[in-house]
Amino acid sequence: MTAPEEMACQVCLSPLNTLGVPPTYVHPIQLATDGHEPVPVPVRQLDTVQRRCDFCGDPYPTWTLVGGEIAAVAIGAAGGLVQNFGQAWAACATCQTYIDDGRNDKVVDRAVQALGLGNRPEARERIEQLHLAFLNVRVSGRTLITTTAWPATPIAARDLPKVRDRLTRFYRGRDNLPFAFASNDVRQQIADGLDRSRMYWIDDDFTDLGEYAAEKLPDVAVGRNLTPSTDGLLVWSRPVTRRQITAASWTVTGDGWHLVTYRTIGGGLHGTPLQRLREQVGWLAPMHAGHVHEQHLLPGGHPAATLVAAWLLIGQQAAQITTADLDKAVRKTYARTNRPAPEVRVVRIRAGRDTTPPSRRSTPAGPERPTNNRFWVSGHWRNQPYGPGRTLRRPVYINPFLRGPDDAPIKLSTTVRMLKSHKPKPEDHD
Ligand SMILES: [Zn+2]
Ligand SMILES: [Zn+2]
Repeated sequence: MTAPEEMACQVCLSPLNTLGVPPTYVHPIQLATDGHEPVPVPVRQLDTVQRRCDFCGDPYPTWTLVGGEIAAVAIGAAGGLVQNFGQAWAACATCQTYIDDGRNDKVVDRAVQALGLGNRPEARERIEQLHLAFLNVRVSGRTLITTTAWPATPIAARDLPKVRDRLTRFYRGRDNLPFAFASNDVRQQIADGLDRSRMYWIDDDFTDLGEYAAEKLPDVAVGRNLTPSTDGLLVWSRPVTRRQITAASWTVTGDGWHLVTYRTIGGGLHGTPLQRLREQVGWLAPMHAGHVHEQHLLPGGHPAATLVAAWLLIGQQAAQITTADLDKAVRKTYARTNRPAPEVRVVRIRAGRDTTPPSRRSTPAGPERPTNNRFWVSGHWRNQPYGPGRTLRRPVYINPFLRGPDDAPIKLSTTVRMLKSHKPKPEDHD
């Protein structure tokens, strides 16, 4: 028998409890909402779910564990915990560390503290019973929760080989992944592809440009001519778009590609839980995976559209690509295992080139134009013919570049700043 599909509310992204048969979906009782009616959607359709650790209430659950069925439990009088746990529990990285180390008492401490039940030994006992009822019949194995909105962890270009290798190891390991990643074949293919991958690190300005361009990307027919390398891993300098994607990989298959988007995990953790997570999972958690065929028409709103926009911008020479300096230690590690030295390509906006159509090259009107800064010109995509007989169409980003002296600092235009989801960074000083 398969369990009923887990649902969450599309408005507040909170997992929903079920009542009765056929099921009615309700917000968890302890959840403070603005009074909206729950809008149930299957969890598998959401990139992000506002789940909490079922042991301690931590807002960054990391693993799903399967154990004893706990239907409903109430603890405490006022503002206590009322929850419908089911047989799958979410565990945060800290609770998981204690569970792995056999320190269930520490897990109970966290729950007692979170519920403010410090001086009530009987409440502590009840929580312990509840945890043990689940853990004593726990099934071995665990599934990485890929829908938790972790605070961002910046990844530097020089760290990419390490980040890539940990991700590869995770794909080959025994911890489970949900949904589209479930098949071992797919995981193996993606891991092999990552081993072969070219690594790209997108700098701050190119990330700004790419995010802005990605939001407007039209439908694109994905073809071999679009990808900058056969297999690749691409990391942006910060999370991009409302999906908060930080990285993406593409793996060539016989008839297309596996495209995977990733978020960073572990932000805000410290000590042993952070170390374990880095060792056992790494820095990246897959958010969305799909297989697309050659010449598949990828809709502009697709999760991988941000990746496709980056391919196109790199392919149309908007990018200046240099090689990152890597630590000696990394090169030595690779040499020891007979792997070729890893190369990380750093993608920046190409300097000294203006592809503005000639008709627009005249100085724009307006006396307020700054002359000592470069500034963004908001661009747009245009489908251009290419290929044999110019029968194919490919979007080309028009006006993606900066105007102003090449060596001048880049000033963010109003247009781009409005679309940015983070604070504008301070300007560079010479
Ligand atoms: Zn809701
Ligand atoms: Zn926890």
